[in-house]
Amino acid sequence: MITQWLTVYVSRNYTDVVQGVVFAWVTLQLVFQSADTKTKAQKFILSFLVSYNTAQMLSGLLYFGIVSYAQTAGTFLDFLIAAGCLLLPVFFLMGLYRRIVGVQGPAPAFIYTLFFNANCLAMLIAMTTLQRMLITVGLSLALIFCFRKEIHYILVEKSMLRMDRRFYGTAVAFMILIGAEAELPRIVLNGGADTVGNQMAYAVAITGALLVILFVIFMKFNFFAIMKYENYIRAHDDDTVTGAKSLSYLLEHGGALLRRTQASGGPALAVFYSNIVNFRDVNILHGYDAGTAILSQTAELLTAAFPDGIVARISGTHFVGIVPLDQAEEKFVQVAEKVEALSLDETLMFRVGLCPTKDWEQAAGDKPHYSPLTTLIDLAAVAARRLAGTRDAVQFYDDAMRHNEAIRLHVLAHIDKAVKDGWLQVYYQPLVDIERKAVASYEALSRWIDPQYGFLTPDQFVEPLERIRMIYKVDLNVLRRYGRLVRDWQAAGRPVLPISFNISRTDLEAGIDLFGEIEAIICEEQIPKKFIHVEITETALNGDSAVMQRAVRRFHDMGLEVWMDDFGSGYSSLNVLKDYQFDVIKIDMAFMRKFDERSKTIVRDVCRMAADLGIRTVAEGVETAEHYAFLKEVGCTYAQGYLFSKPIPPDQIPEDGFHV
Ligand code: C2E
Ligand code: MG
Ligand code: MG
Repeated sequence: MITQWLTVYVSRNYTDVVQGVVFAWVTLQLVFQSADTKTKAQKFILSFLVSYNTAQMLSGLLYFGIVSYAQTAGTFLDFLIAAGCLLLPVFFLMGLYRRIVGVQGPAPAFIYTLFFNANCLAMLIAMTTLQRMLITVGLSLALIFCFRKEIHYILVEKSMLRMDRRFYGTAVAFMILIGAEAELPRIVLNGGADTVGNQMAYAVAITGALLVILFVIFMKFNFFAIMKYENYIRAHDDDTVTGAKSLSYLLEHGGALLRRTQASGGPALAVFYSNIVNFRDVNILHGYDAGTAILSQTAELLTAAFPDGIVARISGTHFVGIVPLDQAEEKFVQVAEKVEALSLDETLMFRVGLCPTKDWEQAAGDKPHYSPLTTLIDLAAVAARRLAGTRDAVQFYDDAMRHNEAIRLHVLAHIDKAVKDGWLQVYYQPLVDIERKAVASYEALSRWIDPQYGFLTPDQFVEPLERIRMIYKVDLNVLRRYGRLVRDWQAAGRPVLPISFNISRTDLEAGIDLFGEIEAIICEEQIPKKFIHVEITETALNGDSAVMQRAVRRFHDMGLEVWMDDFGSGYSSLNVLKDYQFDVIKIDMAFMRKFDERSKTIVRDVCRMAADLGIRTVAEGVETAEHYAFLKEVGCTYAQGYLFSKPIPPDQIPEDGFHV
């Protein structure tokens, strides 16, 4: 019975059956190429079952049901009923096909449409059943081939076509036209679909073919324009590596979002600035692709955590954006945990600075050329920087930071004025010769006495200026002011005080002739060179050692002593003694602060070793008599610290010198 039914079914519909098989096969090729065999088999059968073949059967049943009831055979109404009966099951099965394929967007419907159109056209132009079958299959494959790029595009890319109803509309309109056309000959000529054979039939067939060609051309253009447009938008708005937004998108849409929220009193927002720390190692150890994968996953985690926000990647490992303030901290902590879990050797750290946008007017207030958004990004970055060396993942921008940031920007903007108008002053702190119990020299330390912010200590202006390589202006100012002091004191008959002054590594990288400048000042002010010593911190020796060795040699050639500052604060201390010819080493004050047996042993050994090498030693941070007694015992040359004096302005130095 079943075999009998099957034979009848196949012989009557074999064009559609063959096309159904091809349809299922094409589906596997396009969508399930990398699926396992079981899935493939399943999808093949399901695709076949929803193919046009079944639509034909269903529409036949529907049509004959209705027509036998309504007695409309041969009329125009019959044509409408037939077309409706044809299209209804088609749309129904197309919906099922979409579920089977399981991809969003127009791709499944589009593939279905191509097969449908091929079948309809074949019905119109074929003279025999065999011809119809051949044309159907050939045309189906030709259409799929013709649109292979477009199909791939809507299958794989996150195309905006997913949401576009006009796109569906156009395709559906063509389907209805072509489908209805296919029904025409049977009705008009009252003949079977397979056996149309007069001039009228030719006209209908040609119109059908034209319709399909028109469909192809129209869809090709449609796709071309859409793909071009979307690629343009994507290049502009999206970060092509991670799928996050681009900086230009953030600046364009973020500013508008802020303004909208401000105006409508919407939910509070925050700007975030994040970084993945230690990311370089991933690229080096595991390859660029592994790094890109982690960046993309981070972008996904962020966008998933903040669907209402904007997440943009502005460079390398920096993601920046705007998110709702509510629960932002908790969510970022969760994202951080997940990002760190992506770490291939547990080294990655995700760090986020957050700045609530309620501050934006304030932030923009005194910097009119700043857009509020970029200012907020900067502030969030300041907060993120605070996390260095901590175990926390999230840091809010707070009042203390606001104050420091204001000072930082003020310092950067006013360095020249500070030098010119004498805001930058030099304080002096004595170094005591332990053996002689007398002041041997002074360390010259800069102080910024600001008309607006008052007294600023070096930690408020040295690091910001080092970052932009402008600290040399401070260092040369020290020397210049010292020179003037020497001149004044000599005129007043006071003895000259020898000094050491600090230079930074960035002085050598600032693109100025540091040695020439120093030489010029010494010459101009006629300072005897034996009174000037140059301090270079140990950490400044990190990096290119050849540059630093050359610098030390240059200073020696100029006739200046070179002292190493903060010895023991870095990690290469012994190498430093081996590679550089320092005249004095200043032992970092950390050893006096943590004055236990360990520290004492180290200080004792350093002093002995230095003495053996013919290098003098200074202990920094000497605050107690106990410190002093110990240093005397271990043979340290000089002591510097609050025990004798804090750094003081020159007019406070007693005329007859310090008494120790
Ligand atoms: P430094 O060169 O190691 O200077 C010694 C610092 O220790 C000074 O801090 C000084 O006030 C402080 N100090 C001295 N004795 C004691 C003590 O007994 N206890 C404690 N707790 N501290 C003591 P200051 O003046 O704040 O300078 C900090 C750093 O800023 C300096 O460290 C130096 O690296 C840098 N700096 C200061 N002035 C200049 C400058 O004109 N140019 C450059 N490039 N750096 C400077
Ligand atoms: Mg120093
Ligand atoms: Mg020091």
